[in-house]
Amino acid sequence: MPGIRIDFNRYGDLVARLPSGVRNVDFATASAVCPFAGGPDESTIAAEVFGGDADPVRAHPEIGRFRSAFAAYAPPHRERASSGGIASWVLGASLRQGLVDGVIHVAPSFGRDDGRVFSYRVATTPDAISAGATSFYFPVSMDEVLRIVKERPGRYAITGVPCFHKALRSLRSVDPVIDERIVLQVGIVCGQMKSAHYMRFLAAAAGAPRGARVVDACFRRKVEGRPANDYAVEVKTQSSDASAEGAPVQVHRVMNSRIGVNWGMGYFKPKACDFCDDVLAETADLAAMDAWLPHYVEDGRGWSLVVLRSRLAERLWHEGVRAGDLVQRPVTAQQVADSQRGGLNHRRKLLGYRLWLHRRAWHPAKRQPARRDLSARAAPGAAAARVAARAQPRALAAHR
Ligand SMILES: Cc1cc2nc3c(=O)[nH]c(=O)nc-3n(C[C@H](O)[C@H](O)[C@H](O)COP(=O)(O)OP(=O)(O)OC[C@H]3O[C@@H](n4cnc5c(N)ncnc54)[C@H](O)[C@@H]3O)c2cc1C
Repeated sequence: MPGIRIDFNRYGDLVARLPSGVRNVDFATASAVCPFAGGPDESTIAAEVFGGDADPVRAHPEIGRFRSAFAAYAPPHRERASSGGIASWVLGASLRQGLVDGVIHVAPSFGRDDGRVFSYRVATTPDAISAGATSFYFPVSMDEVLRIVKERPGRYAITGVPCFHKALRSLRSVDPVIDERIVLQVGIVCGQMKSAHYMRFLAAAAGAPRGARVVDACFRRKVEGRPANDYAVEVKTQSSDASAEGAPVQVHRVMNSRIGVNWGMGYFKPKACDFCDDVLAETADLAAMDAWLPHYVEDGRGWSLVVLRSRLAERLWHEGVRAGDLVQRPVTAQQVADSQRGGLNHRRKLLGYRLWLHRRAWHPAKRQPARRDLSARAAPGAAAARVAARAQPRALAAHR
């Protein structure tokens, strides 16, 4: 958006800023495309985008609109990937089949001087797609790549966490060039984003010397023989002493299980994530996630769950299965929802209470109503029980 700059705040989150003196910013459009400001919610967008299909599109209260769902992996992509390599496979397949001219995904970009050490870029070869495999728990922004899309005619597939896809759908509704050029939205399921400080925390947890410069990081390294949820975090550092130019790179590793409860407690999570109720990228053509289900977690080589929402995604998928690119097992919508229970509890059940806490402050309009009664949200029926308990002394008094 002309006039608006994206950079890091002191919490390590990438935020939109308005430099002083800038005039003529189109605030109406900016808030219409911001996923946390105005605009239609995810259910409304998904109904519009996927609901018109003549073929069966089912709506599930927790996973959104979908056509089919599978547990799967893509053998050649699996090793480098976070889970089953499904996101990398979809990107590669869309390029191979000529559906797109380039894929927009996230890859390491250490060496930049603006702190964006992971960032979106356009990849046009299978090798480049592989180099961007795995999950980057680090703030990224679409500002630079969207400029490229505007300038460079062609068709693109793009990865993103749920709020990015919502923003893209809104942008596509007001920008016909972007709408024509973004043809496939690949959703990366998200329970929470992390700030840039998270990587520094991981470096310290992995034993990197204080003040050392992080020159590379992998947030999800599979470890042979371990279950899928017991992965390693790997951080590479170099001395930040200017005189140590060319100093050896040191590799530090720590197992995810040793880091502590950062996921459950939401450490390093941007505030915006507490006002998001879309875990499953409900507006993307498909959504890929870790197969956090008992049977699949045991296989540390990695399985993904995938929810196919658009006809296009389903077509790509079935061609992949026919070509022998994918190993798949059907799963139910309920199994998909159960695999994300922690994220759904936080973002759906407990969001109502956060909305109630913020009832006097501005907050985005959400699909959940504000609810003061946390216990009633956590345990259906508890509210009725409490009302009955409150009524009981009065009823007993009436009998005396
Ligand atoms: C911030 C974050 C939170 C997540 N939370 C959950 C969760 O709660 N539950 C769950 O099941 N899964 C979650 N995931 C998704 C999970 O980690 C895997 O990314 C997903 O299972 C896809 O794995 P894959 O093996 O199919 O993908 P891969 O083949 O490894 O490919 C991943 C693709 O996603 C792109 N990518 C990586 N990070 C980002 C990013 N930050 N923004 C945009 N694109 C990116 C990569 O460039 C690559 O193309 C999260 C991912 C992220 C980045």
